[in-house]
Amino acid sequence: MAARCPGCGYTYRVEEGNELEGFAAGTAWREVPDDWCCPDCGVREKVDFEAVA
Ligand SMILES: [Zn+2]
Repeated sequence: MAARCPGCGYTYRVEEGNELEGFAAGTAWREVPDDWCCPDCGVREKVDFEAVA
């Protein structure tokens, strides 16, 4: 599963996680805090992300 930022295109992939943000590989999307902001643009929040098939 993956989720993409509609602003800059950054994609969070569950199998990769984001260690810089403190999410180990395999961290489920639902475990990412709702107020987490996109690490690339810093503008969009988790709720804005779009699911990627
Ligand atoms: Zn972004």
